Amino acid sequence: MPRFGSLLATVVRGRYRACGGENVSIQRDLESVEDRIRAACMRSGRRRREVRLVAVTKTVEAERINEAIRAGVRFIGENRVQEARDKFPLLIPVEGRHLIGQLQRNKAGKAVELFDLVESVDRISLAEALSRRAAQLERELPVLIEVNTSGEESKAGIAPGGAPELVEAAAALPNLSVRGLMTIGPLTQDQEKIRAAFRTLRELRDSLAQKEIPGADLEHLSMGMSGDFEIGIEEGATIVRVGSAIFGRRA
Ligand SMILES: *Cc1c(COP(=O)(O)O)cnc(C)c1O
Repeated sequence: MPRFGSLLATVVRGRYRACGGENVSIQRDLESVEDRIRAACMRSGRRRREVRLVAVTKTVEAERINEAIRAGVRFIGENRVQEARDKFPLLIPVEGRHLIGQLQRNKAGKAVELFDLVESVDRISLAEALSRRAAQLERELPVLIEVNTSGEESKAGIAPGGAPELVEAAAALPNLSVRGLMTIGPLTQDQEKIRAAFRTLRELRDSLAQKEIPGADLEHLSMGMSGDFEIGIEEGATIVRVGSAIFGRRA
């Protein structure tokens, strides 16, 4: 973007934001997210390449997603199969498309066709449906097991105590590989509560990794969104899922 363009963007951005309208500078916001990721990596002695930024594109129209892809986004995350089905044909190809939202079993087949990785597996019946479709398509589907680390009832995910059994059962299914764990931090301003939830996920992963479960290569910890991704990185996240900090607030 020419310098005048970004200057102009800076001037009008606040105004657009204030009326809840379009964010005119996705590129700028992406850069600022990048800076924050890099700073969090530095603080925690990690390398930038250990952390995958997944730009969460739910409710964002295709043209604006493409703008983000042109600005350097390599992974995107959607939370609804139907929305992905409508938008994916309009998008510039990316390295990976993650499903991050709750998934009904009857949409599992479609999800396997559309996504490269499913982050939100929280029950065995869903893992079985994904496995069946992946086998039909003769591909391997990487998945994460979603864990409810906050105990909030509104949150999806299996309770930490049930996770080991689910990881083992899912890893044993054909055409499915369990690549790690995912969680959504608690809805609170209390940074220490958020940190504790992320730490719970990491400790769970570490203890599961020691078991060397066949079919489970638990390299990934997906934790951290716009409000808490820095804490996620400090606690070991390999994937952060960031939406509004890149695309502005959702309507
Ligand atoms: C919407 C969503 C995000 C991104 O949330 P932001 O606060 O906009 O960054 C991340 N993860 C999941 C599972 C989501 O549904």
